[in-house]
Amino acid sequence: MVGAQHAAPLPDGTTQPRYAEVVLPVPVPRTYSYLIPPGLAPRVVPGARVVVPMQRRQVVGVVAVVDAPAPAPRVTAKPVLAAPDAEPAITPPLFALGVWISRYYGTPLGLALRALLPGALWSVRRPAGPAEQVERVLTLTAALPSLLERERAFKRAPKRRVAYEALEAIGGSAPVRHLIARLGLSPAALDGLVTQGLAGYTDVPRARDPFAGLSSPPPPDLTADQRRVVAGILATPVETPVLIQGVTGSGKTLVYLDVLRSVVASGNGAILLVPEIALTPQTVARVRGVFGDQVAVLHSGLSDGERADAWRALRRGERRVAVGPRSAVFAPVQRLGAIVVDEEHESSYKQGTAPRYHARDVARERARLEGARVILGSATPSLETLHLAASGTVARFDLPDRIGARPLPPVEVIDLRSDERVPDARGVPWTVALDEAVRGALGRREQVILLLNRRGFATYLQCPACGDVRSCPRCAIALTVHQTPAALRCHYCGHEEPIPTVCGVCGKETQRMRGLGTQQLEHFVGLRFPEARIARMDLDTTSTKWAHHRVLERMAQGQIDILLGTQMIAKGLDFPNVTVVGVVDADTGLHLPDFRAAERTFQLVAQVAGRAGRGPKGGRVYVQTRAREHPAIRAAALHSVSQFAAAELPLRAPPNPAYPPHVGLARFVASHEDAGRAQRAAERVAAWLVRANSERLSGVLSVLGPAPCPIERLKGRWRWHVLVKAAEPRALGRVVRALGARARGAVIVDRDPVSLL
Ligand code: ADP
Ligand code: ZN
Repeated sequence: MVGAQHAAPLPDGTTQPRYAEVVLPVPVPRTYSYLIPPGLAPRVVPGARVVVPMQRRQVVGVVAVVDAPAPAPRVTAKPVLAAPDAEPAITPPLFALGVWISRYYGTPLGLALRALLPGALWSVRRPAGPAEQVERVLTLTAALPSLLERERAFKRAPKRRVAYEALEAIGGSAPVRHLIARLGLSPAALDGLVTQGLAGYTDVPRARDPFAGLSSPPPPDLTADQRRVVAGILATPVETPVLIQGVTGSGKTLVYLDVLRSVVASGNGAILLVPEIALTPQTVARVRGVFGDQVAVLHSGLSDGERADAWRALRRGERRVAVGPRSAVFAPVQRLGAIVVDEEHESSYKQGTAPRYHARDVARERARLEGARVILGSATPSLETLHLAASGTVARFDLPDRIGARPLPPVEVIDLRSDERVPDARGVPWTVALDEAVRGALGRREQVILLLNRRGFATYLQCPACGDVRSCPRCAIALTVHQTPAALRCHYCGHEEPIPTVCGVCGKETQRMRGLGTQQLEHFVGLRFPEARIARMDLDTTSTKWAHHRVLERMAQGQIDILLGTQMIAKGLDFPNVTVVGVVDADTGLHLPDFRAAERTFQLVAQVAGRAGRGPKGGRVYVQTRAREHPAIRAAALHSVSQFAAAELPLRAPPNPAYPPHVGLARFVASHEDAGRAQRAAERVAAWLVRANSERLSGVLSVLGPAPCPIERLKGRWRWHVLVKAAEPRALGRVVRALGARARGAVIVDRDPVSLL
C-alpha cells in the first residue's frame, strides 16, 4: 500500500498520508497532488522546489500548499521524489507575486512561477555548471571600403557579400554560432570569406563579464537639485511610488544611487532595473563604483550556471543590490528596501512571451508586497505614469536642468516636404541643412549621431503636399495600404475603405505610399563622407548586444565619427563630444498603426535629442520630418513632456476613441499557418468576448475586431487579433483569465500590451 509506506504518525499512534499541491512549470491552470514521504516532510513547504514524477518524466515543481485535502479516491497520488531546497526557493512574498502575475496577466501559475527562478533551478539534473569556455569567432581581416572593391570581390558570391556586410555591420567580429543561428548566414559563405582571405576564425574565451573592465570614478557631490530630490524621496511614505522626471543629462543616476545608498546603509537590499543592460554600461559602472562587491549584475552574457550562482548569492544575502533588465525584478534580494526602474517608459520592460508581464508594474506590486519603495525615472515618462502622477498616486519630483547648467540643445525642425535636399540623395531623405551640420561637426573633430528608425514596415498613405495621413474614423490610427484586394484597412477594428486618388484634406492628386525604412542610409553616408569612421547599431539580438557594447566603447574613445542606428542609439548614452544629432526621418514611427505611435515618436526624438550637447562644446539637433506641426514633433523639439502630455492625453479620451491610460487594454492574438484558421480562431474569441460582455459583464467592455494584425504574417503564421478595452480593470481581469485558461496557448493573451503590431 502506498499509503502505509508514506505515512506520518498521528498523535493517537495511527498514521495518515500527507499531500502537497505542486505547481508544475507548464501551461496548465491547475496544481497536482503528490504524497509527501515523511523523510522529506520538513523540506516540503510552500515555495520549495520538489522533484516529482509526471507521466514518464521527472520534473521540478514548486509546492503551493501542504496538507491539502486528499485527492479524489480514484487518483493515486505519486510521491515527491526529492526536495532540494533547505530554504524555499520562492519566498512567500515572491510566491504571492507569482499568483498576482498569474491572475493579472491571465497566465497559468506554473508559467508565472517559471519566470521567478533562473532556468537552471528548473532542471532535474544538477544545475548546469559554467557553459563552454571557448567559442569560435569570425573576424574580418581585410577592409573593402570602396563600393568598387566590394563589387569586384563578390562578383559571383552574393551570399558571401551578405555575410561580409552583416559582419561588418555588427562591428567586424562575431561568434560563428550567432552568425549562423541568429543571422541565418550560411556556413559555406563564412568559410568562403576565410578562403578568400577576408576573414579568419579564432577560438576565444567566452566573454565572462563584459562589464568587468569598466571602472568608474568616485561619484561627485550631489548638486542642490539632486539633494532636494533625494531628500524629497526619502521623506515620501514608502508605499507611494515616486517618479523622477529629469531632463536628459540632469543626473538621475546619481539620485538613484544616493537613495539606494541610504537603503543599503539601513540594512536593506535593492534592485535597479535598466532597459537593456548591454546598452547601459555607464550605469552599471556607476553602480559598481558605489556598491562594489555588494552588486550582482544580471546580464545576458551569464551562463546558466553563473546566473544560478548570482541568484544564490542574492538569496543568501551575500549580495545586496541586483542590477539587470526586466527579469531582475524577480531577483531574490533579501529585505528588499527599494526597486528603481530607470527609463521607465521603455517598452523592453514588457516580456514578449508568457507570462507577458511589465516589469514596471510587477515592480510596484512586489514593492507593495515587501514594503519596499519604488522609484521610476525618465526624461520622457510614459503617459501611464504621468497619469498616475497627475492623480497623486505617484509622487513626482522634477530635475528641470542639466548638470552644470548646460542648456538642452536647440532642435531645428527641417521640413522634408519643402526644404532643399542634396542633389544625389535619391531615396535617402538628406537635406542640405543636415548635410552641412554633419560636415561641420566632422571638420571640428566632433562626433555625430544619426537616428533612422527603420521599423516602418506597415505601408501607409501620405499626401506629399500637405503631409496628411489617412486614418481610421473609429480608431484614430493610420490605415494600412493593402494591395490584394486594393484597400485601406484598419488593423484594430477591420474598417475598410477604397484607396483614395486625391488627398481628402488639400485635394492634391497623387498620394504616396510610405513606411519602408531606408536601408541605404549607411551606404549613402559612407559615400557622402568617405573619410569618416562610421558604425551602425541596429540588429536586435542577444549576442550582438555585446558587439553593440564594443561599438559604444569605441564611440566613447573617439574611434567613431558617426554612429548611426535605430532606437538603441537613442538611449541613456553620455558622450560629451557628440555635438550633432540628426533624426533622418522622424516620421517612420509616427504613422505605425499603434495608438502609441505619437508617444513613441515623442520619446524617441526627445531622447535622441538629449544625446547632443552633453559636453562644454554644446550641440544641436536636426529633426527631418514631413509633420512639423505634429504635437509629438513640436513637443520633442522643445524637450517638453508636459506639452506633449497636454496634447496627447485628451486624444485618448472621449469623445475620441478611448485608450490607455484612460482605459485598460488587452489584446488576444490568434495565429496559424493557415490564414483561414487564424481568422476563425480570432472570430471565436471575439464572439466569446461579445457574449460574455453582454451576458455577464453588463457591457463594460468594448471589443474591437477581429482584424488582421499589422504584422499580418510572422514566422510563417498568419496573425489576427482582437482588442478589448475597459475602464473597469476587474472586468478585464475576468476575461483575460477566462481566455487564458480556455485557450491553452492557442491564443496569446496580452494584457497592457506595449505593441499592437
Ligand atoms: P541622466 O540619466 O539624467 O540623463 P546622468 O545620470 O547620465 O543623466 O548624468 C549626466 C552627466 O552628469 C553624467 O556624465 C554624470 O556623470 C554627470 N553628473 C551627474 N551628477 C553630477 C554631479 N552632482 N556633479 C557633477 N557631474 C554630475
Ligand atoms: Zn478602426
